[in-house]
Amino acid sequence: DLDAALLTVENLQSWYGESHILHGVDFHIQPGEVVTLLGRNGAGKTTTLKSIMGLIGKRTGSIRFRGTDIIHASPHKIARLGMAYCPEERGIFSSLNVQENLLLPPRIADGGLSLDAIFELFPNLKERLASQGTKLSGGEQQMLAIARILRTGAKFLMFDEPTEGLAPVIVEQIGHTIARLKSQGFTILLVEQNFRFASELADRFYVVENGKVIDRFSKETLPANMEKLASYLGV
Ligand code: ATP
Repeated sequence: DLDAALLTVENLQSWYGESHILHGVDFHIQPGEVVTLLGRNGAGKTTTLKSIMGLIGKRTGSIRFRGTDIIHASPHKIARLGMAYCPEERGIFSSLNVQENLLLPPRIADGGLSLDAIFELFPNLKERLASQGTKLSGGEQQMLAIARILRTGAKFLMFDEPTEGLAPVIVEQIGHTIARLKSQGFTILLVEQNFRFASELADRFYVVENGKVIDRFSKETLPANMEKLASYLGV
């Protein structure tokens, strides 16, 4: 039901300079869903998230977010509509400490989490408040990156490979955090190579290949299609 969708992406095409990377990506997300984009390296998943956030210079097609077409909107305007993006490289300012990193993002919408609410969600960040970005472990950096976007008040969150390079116990913690955000009504678009992690969280899955969505599954249809999925992912 596209009328009820929070985000609808239709025939999204994107270019890096002369390189045509996305060739018509189509998918949608309903409010409150966790949706995961799956696909091989280089398929175009990161480019899809960046395009939605307005970070790719040349893009065509249609991206409707809460009823507004944002295909030509600036990242700043898109952020103000209540969307946030947590990049794969996490974007922590290494010369700033945890507190400074947390105070940086503008609180663009009502409902941005207070520092107290952040510390309730991530108790270890409170202990590390004065630590410089470079001194944090990968897991702490990822938590800080998530905490930062929660400060903005955005209710639609995009995470690019949040578990990459992290120890299993931290991966589990990030999984609990995302599940908790879902239960609080956040809508989440996830790019994830860790299929097991994604399969425990996501309501629906889209498979991206060569800059297009080539198939889709729900949590219900996925178990009967594991062989097909494995062939898409080359595993
Ligand atoms: P990965 O898991 O490797 O990040 P992905 O599905 O997220 O895979 P993208 O990062 O979106 O893939 O990359 C899609 C294609 O765009 C790849 O062929 C990649 O080489 C190319 N690409 C990515 N960034 C740039 C860039 N800045 N300039 C030119 N081409 C790029």
